[in-house]
Amino acid sequence: MVLTDRVLMGPGPCNPYPEATAAFCRPMLGHLDPEFIAVLDETIDRLRQVWQTANPLTLPVSGTGSAGMEAAFVNTVGPGDVVVIGVNGLFGERMCDVASRCGARVVRVEAAWGTPLDPQALLDAHPSPKLIALVHAETSTGVENDVRSVAEGKRDALVLADCVTSLGGIPVDVDGWGVDIAYSGTQKCLGVSPGLSPFTMNERARQCRVPTPQSWYLDLGMIGDYTSGATRKYHHTAPIAMIFSLHAGLGAVLDEGLEAAWERHRSCGKALQDGLEELGLKLWAAEGHRLPELTTVLVPDGVDDAAVRRSLLAQYGIEIGGGVGEWAGRVWRIGCMGNTARMANVTLLLSALAKILGR
Ligand SMILES: *Cc1c(COP(=O)(O)O)cnc(C)c1O
Repeated sequence: MVLTDRVLMGPGPCNPYPEATAAFCRPMLGHLDPEFIAVLDETIDRLRQVWQTANPLTLPVSGTGSAGMEAAFVNTVGPGDVVVIGVNGLFGERMCDVASRCGARVVRVEAAWGTPLDPQALLDAHPSPKLIALVHAETSTGVENDVRSVAEGKRDALVLADCVTSLGGIPVDVDGWGVDIAYSGTQKCLGVSPGLSPFTMNERARQCRVPTPQSWYLDLGMIGDYTSGATRKYHHTAPIAMIFSLHAGLGAVLDEGLEAAWERHRSCGKALQDGLEELGLKLWAAEGHRLPELTTVLVPDGVDDAAVRRSLLAQYGIEIGGGVGEWAGRVWRIGCMGNTARMANVTLLLSALAKILGR
C-alpha cells in the first residue's frame, strides 16, 4: 500500500483534523446501540453550536453536500412554487437544476462570476416567492454572498443558504440572521472527510414542507425520526464511522472555539492573498467580497495551468484546484480550509509557486 502525505489546498476536501481521522478507528457499533445513539445526540448538539441555532430539526444528512442541497429543495418546493435563486457560480447553477427538477418556477438573479450577488436584487426579483436561495461561499469563484442582508429583508419568503464552504470557516449565524434552511458539507471548513451534510431547518420552514417529497430517502418527515431521542426508529442505517468522525471533528472545532477557527481561516487567507499579490499575481474575486478559505487567482499569461498544478503535486505534494466552466485553465482555486488553514501550509505553497513560476 502506498501512503502519501498531501497538503490539500484545493476546493475540498481539506486535510481533516487528526481527531476526525483517528475516530475512524473506533470499534464499530450497531446503529441502534445506545452508545452510538449517545454519540449521534452529541454530534447533533455540536452541530447546533456550530450553526448557532436552537433548531430541533438539525442533523447530519447521509451523503455529501449535494445531498443537503437536494434535501433542502425536495422538502420545501413542489410543482409551481416560485423560487428565487442567486446565480454567480457553479453551485448557484446546481441549485437551479435541483429546484427545476422539483417542478419549481425558478427566477434567476445573476451576477458575473467573480462578483457578489446584489441582495436587493434577490429581494426584488418576485413579489411573493416561496423561497429565496443563495450560496454563502461560492467555491467556484472565491466570492462571499451576503446571506445576512437577504435573510433580514425576506418578508414572507423562506431563505435557504448553501453553507458548504462557509460553516466552520467564516461566521454563519442561522438564528441571529434569520436563515430558515441551511446545509453544509463535512470536507470543507469543518475539517472532516467527505460523506455527510450538516443540515438545519427552523419551525417556520418545517410548517411549509411539501406533504410527500419526491425523494423517499431524503424526506425530512421520516429522517426526522432518525434524530429525535425517544421516538427514534429505523429509517436507513446511519453511516456510523462518518458520524464518529464528524463528532470528533466538531469536537476539535469547538475546543479551538468558533471565533478562533474563523480567525485562523481569516489570517491564513489574508497571508495567502497578500503573498500571491507580492508574487505579481492578480486575484480574481472582487475586492471586499473575497473568501479567506478559498482564494482565486488568475493564471498568468503564457503559463500552463495544468503543468503548474502537476509540479505542485509531484514535487511538493500540494494540491490546488483549477477553474471550472468558462474559467477552466484561466484561474487557480486555492483552499485554506479546516486543518489545512495553517500558516506553514501558506508559506510552503507560496514558496513552491515562486520556484515553479521562477519569480
Ligand atoms: C462542495 C460544494 C457543494 C457540493 O458538495 P459535495 O460534497 O461535492 O456534494 C455545494 N455547494 C458548495 C458551495 C460547495 O462548495
